[in-house]
Amino acid sequence: MISERPRKALTWKKGLITLAVSWVVCGISIYTLQLMLWPKEELECRTNLRLLAGAVAEYNQAHPSAPLTEDIPDSMVQSLGIKTHDASGKEVHYYFLSPSPHGGVMPKCNAHDINPLSLELMGVTIVAVIGSVLFLSLSGYTLVLDPPQPDGTV
Ligand SMILES: [Zn+2]
Repeated sequence: MISERPRKALTWKKGLITLAVSWVVCGISIYTLQLMLWPKEELECRTNLRLLAGAVAEYNQAHPSAPLTEDIPDSMVQSLGIKTHDASGKEVHYYFLSPSPHGGVMPKCNAHDINPLSLELMGVTIVAVIGSVLFLSLSGYTLVLDPPQPDGTV
Protein backbone atom coordinates (compact mmCIF):
# COMPACT_ATOMS: atom_id res chain seq x y z
CA MET A 1 0.00 0.00 0.00
CA ILE A 2 1.21 3.46 -0.83
CA SER A 3 1.82 5.40 2.34
CA GLU A 4 -0.18 8.56 2.36
CA ARG A 5 1.78 11.74 2.72
CA PRO A 6 0.39 14.14 5.29
CA ARG A 7 -1.58 16.84 3.48
CA LYS A 8 -0.92 20.42 4.49
CA ALA A 9 -3.75 22.90 4.45
CA LEU A 10 -3.28 25.68 1.95
CA THR A 11 -4.00 29.19 3.15
CA TRP A 12 -4.81 32.08 0.82
CA LYS A 13 -1.68 33.87 1.98
CA LYS A 14 0.59 30.95 1.11
CA GLY A 15 -1.16 30.44 -2.20
CA LEU A 16 -0.84 34.07 -3.22
CA ILE A 17 2.81 34.32 -2.15
CA THR A 18 3.59 31.19 -4.19
CA LEU A 19 1.74 32.67 -7.16
CA ALA A 20 3.61 35.97 -6.86
CA VAL A 21 7.01 34.24 -6.64
CA SER A 22 6.07 31.97 -9.51
CA TRP A 23 4.93 34.95 -11.60
CA VAL A 24 8.27 36.70 -11.16
CA VAL A 25 10.25 33.51 -11.91
CA CYS A 26 8.12 32.78 -15.02
CA GLY A 27 8.34 36.39 -16.19
CA ILE A 28 12.13 36.42 -15.91
CA SER A 29 12.46 32.97 -17.57
CA ILE A 30 10.20 33.87 -20.48
CA TYR A 31 11.96 37.21 -20.98
CA THR A 32 15.38 35.54 -20.88
CA LEU A 33 14.27 32.84 -23.33
CA GLN A 34 13.00 35.52 -25.69
CA LEU A 35 16.33 37.35 -25.53
CA MET A 36 18.12 34.08 -26.28
CA LEU A 37 15.81 32.63 -28.91
CA TRP A 38 14.15 35.51 -30.69
CA PRO A 39 15.85 36.74 -33.85
CA LYS A 40 17.66 40.06 -33.32
CA GLU A 41 15.33 41.74 -35.79
CA GLU A 42 12.26 40.89 -33.76
CA LEU A 43 13.79 42.16 -30.53
CA GLU A 44 14.66 45.40 -32.30
CA CYS A 45 11.17 45.57 -33.70
CA ARG A 46 9.66 45.27 -30.24
CA THR A 47 11.81 48.13 -28.95
CA ASN A 48 10.86 50.18 -32.01
CA LEU A 49 7.16 49.53 -31.43
CA ARG A 50 7.49 50.73 -27.84
CA LEU A 51 9.22 53.93 -28.97
CA LEU A 52 6.65 54.54 -31.70
CA ALA A 53 3.72 53.94 -29.35
CA GLY A 54 5.06 56.65 -27.04
CA ALA A 55 5.75 59.11 -29.85
CA VAL A 56 2.35 58.57 -31.50
CA ALA A 57 0.51 58.95 -28.18
CA GLU A 58 2.41 62.17 -27.52
CA TYR A 59 1.67 63.49 -31.01
CA ASN A 60 -2.02 62.66 -30.78
CA GLN A 61 -2.27 64.35 -27.41
CA ALA A 62 -0.71 67.48 -28.88
CA HIS A 63 -2.89 67.35 -32.03
CA PRO A 64 -6.35 66.26 -30.83
CA SER A 65 -8.07 67.64 -33.96
CA ALA A 66 -5.85 65.75 -36.41
CA PRO A 67 -4.51 62.64 -34.69
CA LEU A 68 -2.50 59.96 -36.47
CA THR A 69 -4.77 57.01 -37.22
CA GLU A 70 -3.19 54.98 -40.04
CA ASP A 71 0.22 56.06 -41.23
CA ILE A 72 3.22 56.99 -39.14
CA PRO A 73 5.15 59.86 -40.76
CA ASP A 74 8.64 58.87 -41.90
CA SER A 75 10.01 61.92 -40.12
CA MET A 76 8.72 60.59 -36.80
CA VAL A 77 10.23 57.14 -37.42
CA GLN A 78 13.58 58.68 -38.33
CA SER A 79 13.61 61.14 -35.44
CA LEU A 80 13.37 58.16 -33.07
CA GLY A 81 16.47 56.67 -34.67
CA ILE A 82 14.54 53.70 -36.03
CA LYS A 83 15.99 52.02 -39.11
CA THR A 84 13.36 50.47 -41.36
CA HIS A 85 15.88 49.34 -43.99
CA ASP A 86 18.89 47.08 -43.61
CA ALA A 87 22.40 47.83 -44.86
CA SER A 88 21.57 46.63 -48.38
CA GLY A 89 18.57 48.96 -48.57
CA LYS A 90 15.96 46.23 -48.19
CA GLU A 91 12.94 47.22 -46.13
CA VAL A 92 12.87 45.12 -42.95
CA HIS A 93 10.18 46.88 -40.90
CA TYR A 94 7.07 48.57 -42.12
CA TYR A 95 5.19 50.42 -39.40
CA PHE A 96 1.55 51.44 -39.46
CA LEU A 97 -1.17 52.15 -36.93
CA SER A 98 -4.06 49.89 -36.09
CA PRO A 99 -6.97 50.40 -33.71
CA SER A 100 -6.09 49.33 -30.18
CA PRO A 101 -8.51 47.18 -28.18
CA HIS A 102 -8.20 49.72 -25.36
CA GLY A 103 -9.21 52.61 -27.61
CA GLY A 104 -6.85 54.78 -29.59
CA VAL A 105 -4.26 53.33 -31.92
CA MET A 106 -1.17 51.19 -31.58
CA PRO A 107 1.76 50.77 -33.94
CA LYS A 108 2.28 47.46 -35.70
CA CYS A 109 4.90 46.08 -38.05
CA ASN A 110 3.74 44.19 -41.10
CA ALA A 111 6.93 42.15 -41.14
CA HIS A 112 6.80 41.06 -37.49
CA ASP A 113 3.62 40.00 -35.81
CA ILE A 114 4.51 40.66 -32.18
CA ASN A 115 2.06 40.06 -29.38
CA PRO A 116 1.04 43.15 -27.48
CA LEU A 117 2.36 43.37 -23.92
CA SER A 118 -1.09 42.63 -22.49
CA LEU A 119 -1.16 39.26 -24.24
CA GLU A 120 2.36 38.45 -23.10
CA LEU A 121 1.54 39.26 -19.50
CA MET A 122 -1.51 37.02 -19.76
CA GLY A 123 0.75 34.23 -21.03
CA VAL A 124 3.16 34.73 -18.11
CA THR A 125 0.20 34.66 -15.69
CA ILE A 126 -1.14 31.40 -17.12
CA VAL A 127 2.28 29.73 -16.89
CA ALA A 128 2.70 31.09 -13.34
CA VAL A 129 -0.67 29.71 -12.23
CA ILE A 130 0.18 26.27 -13.67
CA GLY A 131 3.63 26.42 -12.02
CA SER A 132 2.16 27.39 -8.63
CA VAL A 133 -0.41 24.61 -8.72
CA LEU A 134 2.29 22.07 -9.60
CA PHE A 135 4.65 23.38 -6.93
CA LEU A 136 1.97 23.41 -4.23
CA SER A 137 0.67 19.96 -5.01
CA LEU A 138 4.22 18.54 -5.12
CA SER A 139 4.86 20.20 -1.74
CA GLY A 140 1.92 18.29 -0.31
CA TYR A 141 -0.65 21.04 -0.04
CA THR A 142 -4.28 20.22 -0.42
CA LEU A 143 -5.77 22.22 -3.21
CA VAL A 144 -9.12 20.46 -3.33
CA LEU A 145 -11.42 19.45 -0.52
CA ASP A 146 -12.07 16.00 -1.98
CA PRO A 147 -10.29 13.19 -0.17
CA PRO A 148 -7.33 11.74 -2.07
CA GLN A 149 -8.17 8.78 -4.27
CA PRO A 150 -7.14 5.37 -2.88
CA ASP A 151 -4.75 4.77 -5.80
CA GLY A 152 -3.01 8.05 -5.19
CA THR A 153 -4.32 9.84 -8.29
CA VAL A 154 -5.71 13.30 -7.91
ZN1 LIG B 1 9.40 44.78 -37.68
